[in-house]
Amino acid sequence: MIKAIVAGAAGRMGIKIINMIHKSEGISLTGAFEHPKNPKLGTDAGLTAGLGEIGVKIAGSIDEVIDLGDVVIDFTVPEATLNNLRKASSLGISMVIGTTGFSKEDTEELEELAGKIRCVMAPNMSVGVNVMFRIAAEMAEILGKDFDIEVLEAHHRLKKDAPSGTAMRLARILAEATGLDLEEAAVYQRKGIIGQRSDNEIGIQSLRAGDITGDHTVMFGGTGERLELIHRAQSRDNFARGAVRAAKWVVNQAPGLYDMQDVLGIKKRT
Ligand code: NAP
Repeated sequence: MIKAIVAGAAGRMGIKIINMIHKSEGISLTGAFEHPKNPKLGTDAGLTAGLGEIGVKIAGSIDEVIDLGDVVIDFTVPEATLNNLRKASSLGISMVIGTTGFSKEDTEELEELAGKIRCVMAPNMSVGVNVMFRIAAEMAEILGKDFDIEVLEAHHRLKKDAPSGTAMRLARILAEATGLDLEEAAVYQRKGIIGQRSDNEIGIQSLRAGDITGDHTVMFGGTGERLELIHRAQSRDNFARGAVRAAKWVVNQAPGLYDMQDVLGIKKRT
């Protein structure tokens, strides 16, 4: 039985993950924690997740619960995740990280620390999006420079970071597949007399409205035709299912940093 600790246990994803652990075999919730000022502190994590009492109280820091589990599942905010990873890596505890919105400097530290333990980090844990990551690269390679590439994402009004981590991962994959440097190629805004689109840009546009769970489109615009690859998440259950699958998988791997394509066994071998 794998013992899981959930960070951000009262958050939207934390609640979904606790529910998913509850209905999964081979994994149980042994710890839960939140931001020290969260109003749910000290309450039963099962009650907060709508499951009834499960005997796991929501603690106010990772230090109070880290000894209770094999793996920490973290969907919180970048600053908290980095802090949790520092702790987990010093103790050799595995992690599954779904948080998005890390800066370049954060990402460098994350990759270094995560590589020392067993860690899965992915901006999107759904099966469909991870297949999309692989197929988008192949489409870009086949279509080549004659097709303009635009990435569009839409999310709910409460999302804190933009563009989404998934859109940025798609843009990085597409830049790599077409030999572009994303730092130079990315165009995040268009307004006014901006002139003709250049061949060497990848547009990345964000929409925020209502309760959209998460839509991602890659548009390949050619002359007289366009091809679109679209993923729409209809509920957060996909992400929670992926996170629990990753937690069960990662504890049996060699130390290293993995992504969801490794978990799903769909990584393209080069
Ligand atoms: P959310 O509802 O705001 O949940 C985040 C939770 O983390 C909140 O309860 C927050 O508490 C808590 N938190 C903040 N600081 C903390 C700390 N120091 N220690 C412990 N908990 C802390 O957001 P969400 O929609 O669940 O999304 C969370 C993250 O997951 C975002 O980065 C989002 O983009 C990402 N996400 C990833 C995937 C994926 O598949 N990889 C899917 C969906 C979402 P307070 O409210 O008290 O601050």
